[in-house]
Amino acid sequence: MRISYSLLDTFKQCPYKYKLLAIDKIKEPKNPDLAFGSYIHYILHWFYSHKPQTITLKELLGFYEQNWSDVKYTDLETKREVNLNNVYYEEGKETLETFYKSNKEKNNFNDSLIIGLETKFESVIQDKNQNTHILSGVIDRVDKIGNEEFEIIDYKTNRTLPSFRDVQKNQQLALYGIGVKQLWPNITTDRLNFSLYLLKFNEKITIKKTNDDLEQAKEEIINTIKEIESINEFSPKPSKRCSWCGFKDICPVFKELYTKSLPSDAEIKAAVDRYFILQEKKVNIEKEMKSIENKIDVYLKENNLIRIHGDNGYFTKTEKEESTYDWTKVKNILEPLGKWDKIISINKTKFNEVLKEIPQEIREKIEQTKYNKKVYKIIQATNYNALSPFQNGDINYNKDQFNEDDNII
Ligand code: SF4
Repeated sequence: MRISYSLLDTFKQCPYKYKLLAIDKIKEPKNPDLAFGSYIHYILHWFYSHKPQTITLKELLGFYEQNWSDVKYTDLETKREVNLNNVYYEEGKETLETFYKSNKEKNNFNDSLIIGLETKFESVIQDKNQNTHILSGVIDRVDKIGNEEFEIIDYKTNRTLPSFRDVQKNQQLALYGIGVKQLWPNITTDRLNFSLYLLKFNEKITIKKTNDDLEQAKEEIINTIKEIESINEFSPKPSKRCSWCGFKDICPVFKELYTKSLPSDAEIKAAVDRYFILQEKKVNIEKEMKSIENKIDVYLKENNLIRIHGDNGYFTKTEKEESTYDWTKVKNILEPLGKWDKIISINKTKFNEVLKEIPQEIREKIEQTKYNKKVYKIIQATNYNALSPFQNGDINYNKDQFNEDDNII
């Protein structure tokens, strides 16, 4: 299979979106954040394609302003191309200004030698059945630092700052490492630095990776490829990332919002709204009841009372005993009879921990037992008021998704 990192990630996010992009070959309309991220990448690419030490801040911002009117996203309601608003414009200007000043101050434009800009790679990976897969990607920047070290830099326009641990777990960087080693075989993993540059925060988080980390990343890719090859139904997987999905207007999950011909059922819409009004009331009532219970409990204790009466009813304090078992002793009794296994349940977190501890060949055997099953449906109510502005996740502008002939603006 030939696949890009971006599509692998899309599959994990939502198999239905993967199908639209990879099988139906539909180009995703850009949302405002994606258009913005794409434009900032374009500006930085322009900046580093020249000698960065010779470009002034005025020239950088001038180029940014000059092309701004071309930055457009698709309004899914009207299907029209719309310009980004002024809030984005100011945010981009500030981001570039901070980026420029801080890197200039640290003399970074003089010290780093850029060896790759928007570098495309294709890595050949083989599964244990000798099937060949090609993984492609585009790396924002590869720098040579000093005489020995190299740095892979991936720009992000995220609105939240990932932790160091999040960056360590970032699979995209590991795959870029595989790509760099394929392009420049002399670069060993220990000489590579892996950085995410969070432009909005002007923070660069750099980590190191080992050969084992890269091998593990390969293994995970192969597992995802196998999953893609084995599934028959690419179902939508609604999540917080839907807010930024350009396919909402054709996605079954959002059918009701975008289908004009659907008979508008005022009664059902009123029922949905009524539900959330009741939910809010319920939460407030429960809070008040809990506080009354605490107050009464304290009063009973302080006055050494068992019961307190009101006009509508009374509270009685009772003490009850709850029995439990000594599970270690129970285990010792049941285990020899072969009955202990029947009552213990699988703990997925502990299972994942054990998977990391056991040898690879045993892990592979366990992986082979994996299959997909649909077991339940949940109707989940989500209250708009309970969502924070950024609860819907982060935008990861992913240039890996672009083809050769894609216009980056
Ligand atoms: S809107 Fe959500 S569920 Fe629908 S395709 Fe996009 S990501 Fe998947």
